[in-house]
Amino acid sequence: MSIRFAERMSRLGTETAFEVLVRARALEAQGKDIVHLEVGEPDFDTPENVIAAGVDALQSGWTHYGPANGDAQLRDAIVAYINGARNLDYTADQVVVTPGGKPIMFFLILALLQAGDEAIYPDPGFPIYGSMINFTGAKPVPIPLREENGFGLDVDELETLITERTRLLIINSPANPTGGVLSRNQLERIAALAVEHDFVVMADEIYAELIYDGEHTSIATFPGMAERTVILDGFSKTYAMTGWRLGYGIFPKELAPAITKLAVNSVSCTSVAVQRAGIAALTGPQDRVADFREAFRARRSLIVDGLNAIDGISCVMPKGAFYAFPNITQTGLTSKEFADRLLDDYGVAGIAGTSFGEAGEGYLRLSYANSEANLARALDRVAAMTRDVLV
Ligand code: PLP
Repeated sequence: MSIRFAERMSRLGTETAFEVLVRARALEAQGKDIVHLEVGEPDFDTPENVIAAGVDALQSGWTHYGPANGDAQLRDAIVAYINGARNLDYTADQVVVTPGGKPIMFFLILALLQAGDEAIYPDPGFPIYGSMINFTGAKPVPIPLREENGFGLDVDELETLITERTRLLIINSPANPTGGVLSRNQLERIAALAVEHDFVVMADEIYAELIYDGEHTSIATFPGMAERTVILDGFSKTYAMTGWRLGYGIFPKELAPAITKLAVNSVSCTSVAVQRAGIAALTGPQDRVADFREAFRARRSLIVDGLNAIDGISCVMPKGAFYAFPNITQTGLTSKEFADRLLDDYGVAGIAGTSFGEAGEGYLRLSYANSEANLARALDRVAAMTRDVLV
């Protein structure tokens, strides 16, 4: 039988990091030594107290269905954390807990967009934004993030992309894949545009705890924004919990029930034992989070200084997250050619900038969530390849 797919499936994209991981593992199976700088996840173990809380939850009977919008105690802990850390005033009924932060973008985009709508999203940016906007039949409108702006966002340019059909703007600060951080002034101007043109903003703040210079500001803090901002956050990056699958969104009051309905129709609820571990993460000691941040800070210097020491490569210092986004245009190779050759011939798995949008041409994303020894090995290999290419 030849299976007929719904037309919408042809519009759904994917996340290249997982594909590169599969290719890299296949090369390893052939005996090749690979340094993995492709997947965006902390290499640290989840803090002990969080693991203990998860094990204890399983042994204490937290093995049944729970509320679709999340464990009430966890939602209280999330609101206490967000309101404290970001100077906001949310209530627990505005929180929806999901298996990872990713379903928040999936649910929100499904809930808001349809054919005829437009949504603006960062390019280069997390590939699921454009994929999901396309999936709904709405028009994806990329806003280019440029190196000369420190990979921030040109608010004047953003203004030219807004139409009466704009329903949603996605921002991501600190950003994947560039490490860029939106300044307070940029956020304030973006907020004024959102209020003036009456659209929703999804603020993907999953890397909020990983800022190396300055402080994180949430766009939800600006006048008129709490009622039109969705904050996406989660435990994956902050607490090294990628495999546990625990994230959440904080919504305007009228949106939270719609998102809960999508949760009921798909996942029912997030693993209740995992949510108990989440409570321990948020309410327990935060010293491991600070340790992770300081380790990333040291690795950031190592990789960025190392890349800038290579003739033919330049790299701006990322302000947050754990990605370096070097400019490889001087090598004369496209991003894809560079990434493929680096993996196949030199044993370093990175991701072509174009996997994050057309404006990523000329760049490579290297995750520095890896040991300093591995980063040093990767740098030697990038230098060797660049030397070979430039002779
Ligand atoms: N948002 C951004 C920008 C990300 O980079 C990621 C993960 O890579 C996510 C959201 C989703 O993370 P998770 O679903 O593990 O919470």
